[in-house]
Amino acid sequence: MQIAQVIVDVSARQTNTPFSYLVPDNLENSLDIGMRVKVPFGPRKLTGFVVGFADQSSFNGRLKPIESVIDLYPVINPEMLKIASFLSKKTFSYYISCLQTMLPGGMKTKFDKVITAKDDQVAAEYPEIFNGNHELVVSHASNDRDQLAKLTKLRAAGKVNVDYRLVKKANPVQAVAIKSKLDGSQLNECLATVKQNAKAQRKLLETLIADPNAELLQSELVKQGVSSSAIKHGIDAGWVEKVMVTQRRNPFFKPVEPSKPLNLNSDQAKAVSKITEAIDHDENTRFLLEGVTGSGKTEVYLQSMAHALAMGKTALMLVPEITLTPQIVGRIRSRFGDQVAMLHSAMSTGERFDEWQRINRGEAKVVVGVRSAIFAPLTNVGLIIMDEEHDSSYKQGDNPRYQTRDVAKFRSDYNHCPVVFGSATPALESRARAQKGVYQLLKLPTRINKQALPHVDIVDMTDAGKQTPSMLSLELQKAVEERLTKHEQVILLLNRRGYASFLMCRDCGYVPKCPNCDISLTVHKSSHSLRCHYCGHEEPIPIKCPNCGGKRIRHFGYGSEQLEEQVNELFPEAKTLRMDVDTTRKKGSHERIIDEFGAHKADILLGTQMIAKGLDFPDVTLVGVLNADSALDFPDFRSSERTFELLTQVAGRAGRAEKSGQVIIQTFNPDHYAIKLAKEQDYEKFYETEMRVRQLAKYPPYYYTVKITGSGPQERKVAAEMYGIATELKQQLSNKSIVLGPTPKMITRINNQYYYQIIIKYRFEDNLQSTLEQLAFDRTNNRNGIQIAIDNDPLDLM
Ligand code: ADP
Ligand code: ZN
Repeated sequence: MQIAQVIVDVSARQTNTPFSYLVPDNLENSLDIGMRVKVPFGPRKLTGFVVGFADQSSFNGRLKPIESVIDLYPVINPEMLKIASFLSKKTFSYYISCLQTMLPGGMKTKFDKVITAKDDQVAAEYPEIFNGNHELVVSHASNDRDQLAKLTKLRAAGKVNVDYRLVKKANPVQAVAIKSKLDGSQLNECLATVKQNAKAQRKLLETLIADPNAELLQSELVKQGVSSSAIKHGIDAGWVEKVMVTQRRNPFFKPVEPSKPLNLNSDQAKAVSKITEAIDHDENTRFLLEGVTGSGKTEVYLQSMAHALAMGKTALMLVPEITLTPQIVGRIRSRFGDQVAMLHSAMSTGERFDEWQRINRGEAKVVVGVRSAIFAPLTNVGLIIMDEEHDSSYKQGDNPRYQTRDVAKFRSDYNHCPVVFGSATPALESRARAQKGVYQLLKLPTRINKQALPHVDIVDMTDAGKQTPSMLSLELQKAVEERLTKHEQVILLLNRRGYASFLMCRDCGYVPKCPNCDISLTVHKSSHSLRCHYCGHEEPIPIKCPNCGGKRIRHFGYGSEQLEEQVNELFPEAKTLRMDVDTTRKKGSHERIIDEFGAHKADILLGTQMIAKGLDFPDVTLVGVLNADSALDFPDFRSSERTFELLTQVAGRAGRAEKSGQVIIQTFNPDHYAIKLAKEQDYEKFYETEMRVRQLAKYPPYYYTVKITGSGPQERKVAAEMYGIATELKQQLSNKSIVLGPTPKMITRINNQYYYQIIIKYRFEDNLQSTLEQLAFDRTNNRNGIQIAIDNDPLDLM
């Protein structure tokens, strides 16, 4: 009899290792590692992952049998199993949380199983299953264990295909399309008979002539000026017919023009040849591709990926959360077509689920996605790319708190393939590794079009003469005016992080605060409310001061809403678009704004960090940064790095085509090195300067850090528990490691929970892993009502 080892879905120390279960006869030899099963566990029934099989001889006790299968095919492949165990060590998380993290959200909800016979013979061979059909749908509610076992056997024998479909909204949308009934020359004959002024009819025929076999979405045709009455006429005249087509729901899947590889310049060619050489030799080389903005990094990625595909391998490309613009996706799809699968947070659960299954079945050869796409179940990976590798969205904020770079390196080792970290402003850690030769440095020092980098001017806002009632200095106003007259485009960035508008009473100084958090409420004019950005609390804007009853309660600070208002007042003729969390909440709106601006339907794009990166608009010649200091003012060791990075990235949006670019940075700290070096756009100089600062202050990359956060509803208890932990840590770690704290966090209370933290800084620490594992598994079980979170290599120390 077979014995399966199962990790059950309970986050606890006792269940962090596999339990043994008997494999029932009807599942013997068809159950696979990586499938989920239902197992009895004490009085309960639990979900579990099969992670291995064991020999019977080593067990004496009575084992319970597996109750039934949840999956008909493995949803975790052998590589993912290894990743999960690596992750659980690295992030001090339970194995089960790591396994769950790697699956798409849809896997955790209800899905039906669609079973298709491979051929007629199979369908005929199993009449009790297929009942004369080819397909069988097993409902998510099905409890027929024998049937599931039978299907598991058929799947294992390769006789059927299995597809999961989410119960809700998962089915692909059907749409009306128009298809020609005639061939090209017949269509041409028809065109000759249509009057010149019947524009819509002519357009319809012309579109069909361009591709007589196409199925054209009616909605798209209408958008392009073919009226519904023209379509009706076409049907009546026998030119076309209506058909139903399955539409992929993904907003990114609109048709793209195929594109050919570009002729590389010498720096690009050198980079590509190094990368492809590593692919050919199955080397797990880590490359750091340091290329200024507009230097053609993406083309290097594309041609390197093409090489991996040509070698019969697959490729994985990661991009940051908010940069995953339709622009980048379009460029990749235009090169690789339907081989591309996408995993992106703007897609619905159902869409991601479908894409994930395509990857798992081996139908997609290229995966493009955000952070979690690093877990895409691609096999035979030939190349991994992390674009904008410095980006903070690559670090997961919740358990397991992993850094995508670490997983990328793990997969590169597992697959014997290179990984490319690309950026104009690499993370200091990465650049330092390249310095030591741990990464191989590839440089693209010039822009493709040989254009100089844009010219950067600093406006010193402390200079009283420059102050205006407006958020735009006179210099910036004048520059915008000039660009508008030339019919060029402008981007205005308001870095709003921690810098939103709040209310204050001019008489008593009262500021409305969140009742649940230690933070002032933010004014949202469009909804006429005050909102807490931490817990979501919302209340109406008061007319009178709730404290003194005075009427002089006013706005302070500013947000992108106010900026939009002011810009509209200053430049009434210009058309503006605003992009921030409020205007991009609706699905597809992010894409719509970018499309409109890209088509030059607006003159000014203003917004928050979202607009700083990755966008490529040839008509943009001016970028204005309204408040360069807001990132600088954060009390964190990475604030200079973040400021330099943001300014360089946003400056890189200007002058990317033939027209030269200009950047204006408004700041209250014109002498700060991050601002000065951003003006020169000298990353290497910044790297050297910042490394000295880090060395003196014992920060990364000279030291590694771990952040331990404790939280709970009673401040005294949180503090006491954290003091206890700090004392234990100091006892257990060597005296070369530094334990700082506990201290209350900058915002101590969020949603009525109090937060304290401890920071560990170390270089070499033999006892770290065991000490923190002990802490993680002892304390995360909510001891004294206090939650302990361990963040290895945290993004910030705040
Ligand atoms: P980066 O990612 O480094 O900011 P991009 O890859 O977006 O730069 O390249 C900037 C522009 O240059 C893009 O419009 C791209 O199509 C173009 N480009 C890149 N490589 C070449 C090349 N070898 N020849 C011509 N144009 C190129
Ligand atoms: Zn709040």
